[in-house]
Amino acid sequence: AVVPVANKPRPSIGIMGGTFDPIHHGHLVAASEAMSVFNLDQVVFVPTQMQPFKAGRKVTSAEHRYLMTVIATASNNRFTVSRVDIDRGGTTYTIDTLRDIHQQRPDADLFFITGADALQQIVSWKDSDKLFEMAHFIGVTRPGHKLDASGLPKNAVSLLEVPAMAISSSDCRARVREGKPVWYLVPDGVVQWINKYGLYKN
Ligand code: ATP
Ligand code: MG
Repeated sequence: AVVPVANKPRPSIGIMGGTFDPIHHGHLVAASEAMSVFNLDQVVFVPTQMQPFKAGRKVTSAEHRYLMTVIATASNNRFTVSRVDIDRGGTTYTIDTLRDIHQQRPDADLFFITGADALQQIVSWKDSDKLFEMAHFIGVTRPGHKLDASGLPKNAVSLLEVPAMAISSSDCRARVREGKPVWYLVPDGVVQWINKYGLYKN
């Protein structure tokens, strides 16, 4: 009989997909909280190329969004950034993201971290069963925002309340356009990047 030599647990990797236009402290707190509660070894941030439900909206170039994500995560040695969605190109589908990360890290258990709103959309897709085979899903909610968990497969999805963070990328973009500060809503380096390249001015 084959006896396992060492009982080394499989590493667990969180995947945080997003447009990150721009990345803000809500994203970072959600990733940090998921890492702590689910004992993840690392979180990979994956900027999307194009999101199905954001088609038609003007999105900042993938390279700017990628680089701002790198800057925002640079100080945390458990946070990394992956280019899989950007380099694949076209519309980003979560199933492709999971397949690519799994191919790179077949040794690891994957946890897909997503806002509860996005989670409800994902669950309604036709191939959602396959998604739940590939990863455990963590739906992050804000205190006071109740998520309807009925219809979500119990053992494939967990809900996680993160500290109140009423920050959204849309709001950050609007603030920049109106000349209002985004200091402390996004990391300092991201504020400087936005100013340096004049992003979100119109
Ligand atoms: P937009 O306002 O343009 O929709 P966003 O702030 O929702 O942008 P995304 O890049 O679309 O940012 O979000 C990536 C993921 O992070 C999504 O799953 C989203 O639900 C989640 N998320 C966004 N903002 C927060 C927040 N303040 N707290 C927790 N999770 C968040
Ligand atoms: Mg959003």
